[in-house]
Amino acid sequence: MKAEIIAVGSELLLGQITNTNGAFISQKLAEIGVDIHYHTVVGDNPKRLDEAIVIAQQRANTIIFTGGLGPTKDDLTKETIAARLGVSLVSNEEALTEIQAYFKRTGRHMTENNKKQALVLDGSHVLPNRHGMAPGMAMEKDGIRYLLLPGPPHEMKPMFEKEAIPFLLGALGTNDVIASRVLKFYGIGEAELEDRVQTIIDKQTNPTVAPL
Ligand code: ATP
Repeated sequence: MKAEIIAVGSELLLGQITNTNGAFISQKLAEIGVDIHYHTVVGDNPKRLDEAIVIAQQRANTIIFTGGLGPTKDDLTKETIAARLGVSLVSNEEALTEIQAYFKRTGRHMTENNKKQALVLDGSHVLPNRHGMAPGMAMEKDGIRYLLLPGPPHEMKPMFEKEAIPFLLGALGTNDVIASRVLKFYGIGEAELEDRVQTIIDKQTNPTVAPL
């Protein structure tokens, strides 16, 4: 499995927020043995997002998106993916019921654009959002897996662990993991340390060794 993470949001490009979702997803993918070859960050711009999707389709078979699943007009992730994949967006009954229940519970007013959050890619497996309104999605098309996750980390993280990981493990058909350990040294510089373990580094296969 060769994965690419596409984080969507102009605020990421402006440096207003850091792409912590990318780091979190990378760590979790490494734990289950998935290779992450690229991280892409793109703004809320459908043309550039579409370009990023086309590039990712050529070099990855698992593309994970975060962000842009919200109710406002600048949230265009699923619309852009739907157009690129040639699938339509359909209203998901369960997600809509959840959204309506949320507004009832919190006594807030639901506007028409909130219904947009219940739209999902036709044929996708819907990932429930237990900490927010926008459901996630997982689907496979033409040998490429697509995962769509919300931007807010407190929504994305539990969805990734509870829903996305089982989906990916199912696709992997294996329980292999990458185990890694960090050894910290002090009182010795990196160059000298490397010199002293040079034979281990030269012979490395599994496990691999990286001085940093
Ligand atoms: P919402 O329903 O809140 O609109 P969304 O899926 O549309 O969710 P965005 O609007 O793209 O997500 O982002 C909402 C917020 O989530 C951002 O303001 C930011 O605080 C956080 N966020 C988004 N993307 C990332 C990211 N890659 N890393 C860390 N935080 C992020």
